[in-house]
Amino acid sequence: MNTTVLVVEDEEALATLLRYNLEKEGYTVVTTGDGEEADMLVREVNPDLVLLDWMLPGISGIELCRRFRARSETRNLPIVMITARGEEADRIRGLDTGADDYITKPFSTTELLARLRAVLRRIRPALAEDIVTFGEVVMDRSAHRVRRGDREIHLGPTEYRLLEHLMQHPGRVFTREQLLDSVWGSNVYVEARTVDVHIGRLRKALVRGDEKDPIRTVRAAGYSLDEQFPN
Ligand code: CA
Repeated sequence: MNTTVLVVEDEEALATLLRYNLEKEGYTVVTTGDGEEADMLVREVNPDLVLLDWMLPGISGIELCRRFRARSETRNLPIVMITARGEEADRIRGLDTGADDYITKPFSTTELLARLRAVLRRIRPALAEDIVTFGEVVMDRSAHRVRRGDREIHLGPTEYRLLEHLMQHPGRVFTREQLLDSVWGSNVYVEARTVDVHIGRLRKALVRGDEKDPIRTVRAAGYSLDEQFPN
């Protein structure tokens, strides 16, 4: 399998180092230090993952990330942000913009490669396959059925789409606004708290007795499937 990574990094020494290490791992690497060019390259080379520096001259990494998320063809493009900032507010802002993960400078090559593999593993199979699994929750997208263990889960259409979206991006935190856009569609006027209502129904359907709740509420941010869930 040939995996192409687009590296968007204006520090040349770091870009060169990233290229060297990624190529050594067998990735095909395309690099640029320019945000606008990155936007063009995404359309041209259709990368499997973008490694995106937060601080770029001209258009910032975060703005670029926002652009990718706003377009349907790049909505699910795996993005790992490289950031020099480690503060909680910035981390939430990064996730809020739609990055799948981020890594803080300075980082080791080993750590970076592990992050990339994890992001690719959790995103790509789920996008391509009919059967999506998260712990004991199994969704058959062709049959439109959901099971938890042996139990059939009956969901309304909105809860189904909500779960499908979360299962396609396990571990990623979505804000209510992002869920509204992806699940309800951006042309529909629904209040953000509607998301809470449907998350509540989804939880009720998925969790019985003392079963673990697969959905994590992230305070001041939104919801995600809990990476700790499958044990
Ligand atoms: Ca930079």
